Amino acid sequence: MALIVQKFGGSSVANLERVQHVAKIITDTYRAGNDVVVVLSAQGKTTDHLIAMAKEYNPRASKRELDQLLTIGEQQSVALCAMVIEGMGYPVISLNAWQVGFKTNRVYGDARIKRIDTERLQAELDSHKIVIFTGFQGINRYDDVTTLGRGGSDTSAVALAAVLHADKCQIFTDVDGVYTADPNKVDGARKIDEITYDEMLEMATLGAKVLHNRSVEMAKRYNVNLEVLSSFTGNPGTIVKEVVKPMENSHVSGVAKDKNIARLALVGLKNEPGVAFKVFSLLARNNVNVDVILQSIGRGDEKDISFTVARSDTELCKQLLDERRESLGFEDISINDHIAKVSIVGAGMIGNPGVAAAMFEALYAAGININMISTSEIKVSVLVDEADADRAVQVVHDKFFRDFGRS
Ligand code: ADP
Ligand code: ASP
Ligand code: MG
Repeated sequence: MALIVQKFGGSSVANLERVQHVAKIITDTYRAGNDVVVVLSAQGKTTDHLIAMAKEYNPRASKRELDQLLTIGEQQSVALCAMVIEGMGYPVISLNAWQVGFKTNRVYGDARIKRIDTERLQAELDSHKIVIFTGFQGINRYDDVTTLGRGGSDTSAVALAAVLHADKCQIFTDVDGVYTADPNKVDGARKIDEITYDEMLEMATLGAKVLHNRSVEMAKRYNVNLEVLSSFTGNPGTIVKEVVKPMENSHVSGVAKDKNIARLALVGLKNEPGVAFKVFSLLARNNVNVDVILQSIGRGDEKDISFTVARSDTELCKQLLDERRESLGFEDISINDHIAKVSIVGAGMIGNPGVAAAMFEALYAAGININMISTSEIKVSVLVDEADADRAVQVVHDKFFRDFGRS
């Protein structure tokens, strides 16, 4: 007998009909002789609606109260799904983070999982129940509910698969698997049969929201057997694992886009040691994640530093830096929050400098200007104007994948 963790995203459980369909997938798996732990997201756009509602009531609501509100969504899904499965005559129980002991650190809105007590889960499985668990939520040391960040139900599922030593973790969504680019936006995107944890982690971090990036990080760390597939079609999905067969002739596995970024530039900084340390340690102390950093060659006793942060951190950064304008000694801050990051990812680009050049060529041919570039062994990212971003993804994707399966 195998233990299978199955996660269903918002669109997979959006209404009664969808929940009935998902209940059939779950009970089929159970009837085949498996133990089944299910992780659900909130139905449809419930989380977005709850966020909009919170903004109406108080645009500056604390993250604690936001989490208190947002976790309602998942709680609703699991109870309704359990009711449907009960109605079909199967033994089932829905559980939330508090009942399971799904412990996180205390950071509301972006909590990290610390520990999961498996006792209750195991007891329910031992009594042959299908367990339906609330994704996205945990509890912290004050017994408050926390959330894992948008899209975090994937991470809940992989974490359960890891602690329960599940044989398989299936992430059911609204597309057939991981594609070479977002199949809803990019013409000619094609499904990838297998992708490495490292490439998938880059893709997810760089904007391919089909998987929450921390779920991939955790799957790699605990060697979780991970599959992304559709709850709508029943087609084979994408397997995410350590080593895969390389895709035909391509050094690139996928193209991703992230619009949730802003670029800040500190102009006229003192050209002396310690300036970068002061700027970035200040931001780190305030939990601001900095991504691409570019420092200009100094002009005499001045230099500039540009960097990107999540768009939602723009105001906080500006405020923190402005307050220290004198001690940091810069003249001006310029902010651009109409930019996007477009990236190519692929383990096959190591040692192939032509790959980056091909990407730049595609952008040049489309007349798209590059603002900043950053590279690692398995990715190249460029910053472009937000208005150019969709076109940039398409032309770069065409450059690397036109020969394959374009419909
Ligand atoms: P769920 O609600 O099931 O968690 P998400 O909306 O979080 O689903 O993720 C699925 C969506 O991710 C797809 O509908 C697709 O538009 C988007 N997506 C972005 N990049 C990719 C990619 N490279 N491959 C597949 N889907 C992608
Ligand atoms: N419901 C949460 C969200 O919309 C978590 C998830 O779907 O994974 O972000
Ligand atoms: Mg998701």
